[in-house]
Amino acid sequence: MENVVIIGSGPAGYTAALYAARGNLEPLIFEGELSKDILPGGQLMTTTDVENYPGFPEGVTGPDMMDLFKKQAQRFGAKVLSKTVTGIELSKQPFTVCSGGEEWQTKAVIIATGATAKYLGLESEEKFMNRGVSACATCDGALPRFRGRPTVVVGGGDTAMEEALFLTNFSSHVHVIHRRDKLRASKIMGDRAVAHEKITIEWNSVVDEILGDDDHGVSAVRIKDVHSGETRDIEAAGYFSAIGHKPNTDLFAGVLDMDDVGYLRVEPGTSKTSITGVFAAGDVADPIYRQAVTAAGSGCKAAIDCARWLEAQHG
Ligand SMILES: Cc1cc2nc3c(=O)[nH]c(=O)nc-3n(C[C@H](O)[C@H](O)[C@H](O)COP(=O)(O)OP(=O)(O)OC[C@H]3O[C@@H](n4cnc5c(N)ncnc54)[C@H](O)[C@@H]3O)c2cc1C
Repeated sequence: MENVVIIGSGPAGYTAALYAARGNLEPLIFEGELSKDILPGGQLMTTTDVENYPGFPEGVTGPDMMDLFKKQAQRFGAKVLSKTVTGIELSKQPFTVCSGGEEWQTKAVIIATGATAKYLGLESEEKFMNRGVSACATCDGALPRFRGRPTVVVGGGDTAMEEALFLTNFSSHVHVIHRRDKLRASKIMGDRAVAHEKITIEWNSVVDEILGDDDHGVSAVRIKDVHSGETRDIEAAGYFSAIGHKPNTDLFAGVLDMDDVGYLRVEPGTSKTSITGVFAAGDVADPIYRQAVTAAGSGCKAAIDCARWLEAQHG
């Protein structure tokens, strides 16, 4: 029987593993098996430069950083399985975790399965990923590629407005592409974006194509008027998708409390989910910040909450 199973191998999962391992809990991590939906190491495996994680004054690549996270957790005895959790039974203790035909019993579970940014699904989004295409202005907006140059944000909700306003600190101009004639964003956020001199809302427009070349990445975005069908190219060094995230919580549907979007709900100030002994960390329970450092911080909280709970239950 395991003390604690950790599901997910991003910053939250490995930080939880590091703390649990140093607390002698010998955690078992399911890092996931590489597939269309699963990426061992988490979202940072898809990025080049991470410039905002403390401790790396020169920056670090996402894959290098996650390799260090993994090694640090393993150094203290965390066990890593390259398997994806395909089923889980949380209705009675001990909990049962399944992968393929195999089962593991565990006293506690820490869920750190992350959230996946949504894209429109254009081939050109994939082609220019990390070469002008991003889903996180907070992460990438300050990179040299975008400084002093125009950028495009896709979406009409609060996230899109936040991303656009943040980008005005670096971009020469920000175009928000929105398919309707009214924003979905709250009035205050929408008004702020509409009034900003560096933001233009491209109403009733959808993205037709992202343009660029292999050497320089994104150079323009072709948009289409939904009424007239007319297309027009907007010069842009960056394309930021801000149409939402999908928390990776399908496994827990109907079992754990979630918000409308599917983010796990935790007791305020803790990592405790609606089932005692099950904790959540990182983007899977964070509709607001979704950063590596906040994910790591909440992984630490989850491991401490878990260790204290195990201590109280099992001594
Ligand atoms: C392109 C890009 C660039 C970014 N750049 C930055 C940056 O510069 N700075 C920054 O702070 N943040 C950045 N972020 C955000 C950052 O990556 C996330 O906030 C962070 O990775 C969240 O960590 P996490 O551990 O909660 O989840 P994730 O990193 O998403 O990891 C989740 C893990 O769970 C695994 N998993 C999911 N389901 C299962 C299952 N059923 N079984 C087993 N494993 C499973 C996945 O494979 C993955 O390993 C960026 C994000 C993206 C997409």
